[in-house]
Amino acid sequence: MASDPIATAFSIDVRSLVDLQALCPELQIITVSAGERYDALCKSSNPTVKARPFAIITPTHEAQLATVVRYCSSATPPIPLTIRSGGHDIHGRHVLEGVALLDVSKLNNIRLSADSKAVTIGAGVKGASLLRALDLFSLTTGTGWCHDVGMVGWACGGGYGVASGPWGLGADNVVGARLITPSGIPVDTDNDPELLWAVRGAGLGNFGVISELRLRVRPRPRQLAGMITFPLQDAKTILGEGLYRMSTDGTLPPNYTGEFMIATTPEAPIMIFLWSWIADPELDADGEEESIKRGWQFLQNFKSLGTVLADTVEETTMRKFQESLKPYMTTSAYAHMNSSAISQLSPEVVDILMKNSPPLGSPSAIVCHHSHGQTEKRNGPKYRSYPVRGEHYILGVTGMWNEGSTQAFVGEQVHWANTVHEAISKTTALLESRYWSFARPEHCNSLSFFEEEGVAKLGALKRRYNPSNAFPAAFPVL
Ligand SMILES: Cc1cc2nc3c(=O)[nH]c(=O)nc-3n(C[C@H](O)[C@H](O)[C@H](O)COP(=O)(O)OP(=O)(O)OC[C@H]3O[C@@H](n4cnc5c(N)ncnc54)[C@H](O)[C@@H]3O)c2cc1C
Repeated sequence: MASDPIATAFSIDVRSLVDLQALCPELQIITVSAGERYDALCKSSNPTVKARPFAIITPTHEAQLATVVRYCSSATPPIPLTIRSGGHDIHGRHVLEGVALLDVSKLNNIRLSADSKAVTIGAGVKGASLLRALDLFSLTTGTGWCHDVGMVGWACGGGYGVASGPWGLGADNVVGARLITPSGIPVDTDNDPELLWAVRGAGLGNFGVISELRLRVRPRPRQLAGMITFPLQDAKTILGEGLYRMSTDGTLPPNYTGEFMIATTPEAPIMIFLWSWIADPELDADGEEESIKRGWQFLQNFKSLGTVLADTVEETTMRKFQESLKPYMTTSAYAHMNSSAISQLSPEVVDILMKNSPPLGSPSAIVCHHSHGQTEKRNGPKYRSYPVRGEHYILGVTGMWNEGSTQAFVGEQVHWANTVHEAISKTTALLESRYWSFARPEHCNSLSFFEEEGVAKLGALKRRYNPSNAFPAAFPVL
């Protein structure tokens, strides 16, 4: 009798989940034998990620999550788990070949605190649903550019976005978390300040699954935001002479955040700024109205640094602005990303960016996130574990292509991404640490990112809460 190849490859692991299904009859466990249903659930937002878990387990509430984690960790042999929330890790670290994938996307409760200063979100909440919910209460918070990115993955790995100038990174706004450790027991950071420090930047699976995250929220401010497009040739005046000068002489307003992307049209390379000005009572002694006036004036000065090809800046809200970006956000693309952190857009870096635009007409792009370090100055270095400090930029040099692209086209995008990355890596602006969520795993090194003291503290917490390394794809690697 011919042996069934699927049963041969997976029978041991699948059988190991039979008792879990009996323990939680209503728990969704999908194995490879479910065919198309499994394939659809398995799809990664970056289709170059090909790993296939032997099962995809989708709890719908915290008690189920705890049962799954406890069951898998105490099985003989233990069943390793990867964690997937929004599924946007570009290097696919939510999945490993042959282990079980824990899909937390259905834990999507959102609760406001009684004083409206914090929101508690489930592990599966994404940026768009959080902003929509907060908007109902005239509140808001920082998120990433893309509506579909998971808030836990974003904030607990760092978290850059258009509010980072005034409000800091996502990690700066984490005020608490509840984790399910391998024993299945919930742990709250309110009982361990060091765990809170760790979760603010190194929280992606090392200490347990975050079942709930508490984020600081703010009354929805008056805000100017939109996209401004310039030809890339203006990078010299905008980045080199404008932003670089303001950063180095300390005149860059904290209300401003300008993250940008270098992309191409079929004819020419362009630079698209996600431009934002937030009026904030903590920053604006002269009040909201005057702040907005200063924002419009700053925008005029900013635009005068180059030739504006398109400008959509208007008075808006965080939610509306993120929604306006939806058509431009690639939630599924073949991608090869390299990433580094630099201290400044120095003339040397600007020169490299200008001379190495993405191949014309390709979907490839350089994504650039910016942190001014305002919030970090207020909070102090002991506040968060996220290691990239002071004013800095994160560059994500991303070769991209589509289904059916030729090998030659794919090769050109990957070569371009590697070449630009190598050139940036030789500049004096390069920082030792990087944004682990963006950087290729082979470029990540805990010791050079977190230094000896940080690694020792994080390692001790991991030994306390997750000694069995129940989530082997967790990062930073400790
Ligand atoms: C299109 C796109 C746009 C992006 N935009 C931005 C941006 O504007 N700013 C920015 O800073 N970053 C951005 N990122 C990067 C993104 O923030 C990170 O990759 C983030 O980790 C994604 O979280 P996720 O839940 O969507 O992804 P997932 O792949 O589901 O998770 C990412 C990692 O977090 C871990 N994880 C997820 N949930 C939990 C949990 N509950 N407990 C413990 N560990 C968990 C996973 O195991 C995995 O290792 C973007 C990425 C993409 C693809």
